[in-house]
Amino acid sequence: MKKSKVVIIGSGPAGWTAAIYASRAGLNPVLFTGLKEGGQLMDTTEVENYPGFRDGITGPILMGELKEQALRFGTEIYSSMVVESQLKKHPFHIKDENGLEIEADSVIISTGAEAKWLGLPSEKAFWGSGVSACATCDGFFYKNLEVVVVGGGDTACEEAIYLSNIWKKVTLLVRSDKMRASTIMQERLKKDNIEVIYNSSISEILGNDMGVQSVDTSDGRSILCSGVFIAIGHSPNTKLFKDQIDLDSDGYIITKPGTTKTNIKGVFACGDVQDKTYRQAITAAGTGCMAALDCEKYLAEI
Ligand code: NDP
Repeated sequence: MKKSKVVIIGSGPAGWTAAIYASRAGLNPVLFTGLKEGGQLMDTTEVENYPGFRDGITGPILMGELKEQALRFGTEIYSSMVVESQLKKHPFHIKDENGLEIEADSVIISTGAEAKWLGLPSEKAFWGSGVSACATCDGFFYKNLEVVVVGGGDTACEEAIYLSNIWKKVTLLVRSDKMRASTIMQERLKKDNIEVIYNSSISEILGNDMGVQSVDTSDGRSILCSGVFIAIGHSPNTKLFKDQIDLDSDGYIITKPGTTKTNIKGVFACGDVQDKTYRQAITAAGTGCMAALDCEKYLAEI
């Protein structure tokens, strides 16, 4: 069986950064990309807030650069899904969809999270041209226009408040008669340019080649808007590790504060799979770096 000091699972900014650091440290990491190499950033267009690119960079190009950097220092990359993980016994055991089995001294989990979607075909059609799941990433492109946010949790409130600072008008659609968001976040929604509509959700997104123009709602409204932000929660990709690693009630991997250590010695987690607060490419990359450093220290001690 193939042996490796470090196996990295996932190829978003966290995974690639962990690979860059681990390979530069001479650990010869093996990285499994998963189904969508590059992760969530492959669905974005322009990334304007990743430091170092003053004119912005597209998500796919940024991910391609990180991959090349990881390759440069000797990361071994497999374009496949990990389908089995045995983390309860050391050395760990990882198997991919093609039957490749690896015995690993340490594992870095960077499998990310996925935004939840309403499931409308029009949502898919306008993805990237008006429909988004990240105000911090895409809000700026629609500056001074009108926008609709869907959801009733803390994320929806945060997105609406963020957007209200740069957009003319924000309409927040909440599907029931109450919000799940914390009281303080709901208080912060009380601004002149934020309208909250209860018992309402999007039934259709309408537009043309230029992008979104309006939405129809389940309660019979038509709202003119240039952007639609879906904020109905995220799902962390942790199914593979269930019953092995400690997860919180939302399924995110629990890490020891200030580190990337999980409850299993030698298993580290970084990026969105353990972060439901910041969810930015740069914070994911930052924790990817932390995971590689935590891992290097662990390997030096065993
Ligand atoms: P939540 O799961 O808390 O909320 C999801 C919201 O989306 C709910 O209001 C839900 O409605 C609504 N929703 C779900 N499906 C649909 C649908 N198909 N159509 C319309 N609405 C729908 O997710 P969040 O991302 O808001 O938060 C996740 C976690 O992260 C929470 O624990 C939150 O507190 C935390 N968080 C904390 C922040 C902070 O402290 N600053 C910032 C952001 C998140 P319903 O209630 O009817 O089910």
